[in-house]
Amino acid sequence: MAPGLRMVRVAEHRDESRSVKTMRFQGRMEARPGQFVMVWVPGVDEFPMSLSHTGERFGITYQVLGDGTKALSKLTEGDVVGIRGPFGRGFSEAGKRLLVVAGGVGIAPTAPLVEAATKAGKEVHLVLGAKSAEELVFEKRCAESGARVHVSTDDGSKGYAGFATGLASSLLEKDAFDAVYTCGPERMITTMMGICKERRLPMQASVERIMKCGIGVCDSCALDGKHVCTDGPVFGLDELERFKELGKTRLDRTGRKTGI
Ligand SMILES: Cc1cc2nc3c(=O)[nH]c(=O)nc-3n(C[C@H](O)[C@H](O)[C@H](O)COP(=O)(O)OP(=O)(O)OC[C@H]3O[C@@H](n4cnc5c(N)ncnc54)[C@H](O)[C@@H]3O)c2cc1C
Repeated sequence: MAPGLRMVRVAEHRDESRSVKTMRFQGRMEARPGQFVMVWVPGVDEFPMSLSHTGERFGITYQVLGDGTKALSKLTEGDVVGIRGPFGRGFSEAGKRLLVVAGGVGIAPTAPLVEAATKAGKEVHLVLGAKSAEELVFEKRCAESGARVHVSTDDGSKGYAGFATGLASSLLEKDAFDAVYTCGPERMITTMMGICKERRLPMQASVERIMKCGIGVCDSCALDGKHVCTDGPVFGLDELERFKELGKTRLDRTGRKTGI
């Protein structure tokens, strides 16, 4: 049975960067890295968010974009939101040396993965990509977990100058990894797919689509015959390769196909 709606109080709300915030909630939620919740801002909207923190004071890390996230960004400690979940298929850790590639707010579902994998004794390298140094999120958190963090910024203000995929590619050139995990802009995912396919490396990516129900009923997140909410949001390379719409189109809020 799908987990029902829980009304929870905001325990903490902090800025991670100019446009990214973390909201922690009172109470516990156990989930696998990569799983998500549906967040309901009463009177405004309900939308999917990955869990950036699990267990006690579980939480989300989000980019302020449209009406839903703008309303969320105004809430303060003690305010109440509705949460359904956890939902979806998360990441599954395979192998001993992992390369995690996170672009922008794609670090939200991958930070718990980095922490879980390092805790399990795996060697984890994280490529943390952002537009600029001020937009980097969870660099310290991931380094403290024991992962090797490699930073890339599009404008060259910190670390490697260029896209996270360029830095990931050069790391894969130098070192052997057992598996690659990624979340970020869809172009980043499709580029990583090409790199991993060429190297015959197992890869998993977390994919985003508009979601209204989160439980495989409304069809909003349909992607080439799969429901991203229940079959994903994490998919393996074989599945990703079968998605003809990936990187090209998605359904908008009205169910119409639109370009990405
Ligand atoms: C499984 C899953 C996990 C997610 N995790 C996170 C997360 O951890 N942090 C985070 O910042 N965002 C995450 N998102 C995206 C997040 O749900 C949207 O940014 C949010 O719904 C935007 O709502 P809004 O009302 O502020 O903006 P809207 O006005 O609804 O949309 C603003 C823009 O974002 C696009 N958009 C809206 N919803 C989605 C969506 N679900 N997928 C792709 N594009 C969308 C719209 O088409 C529009 O261009 C996740 C999405 C999914 C499917």
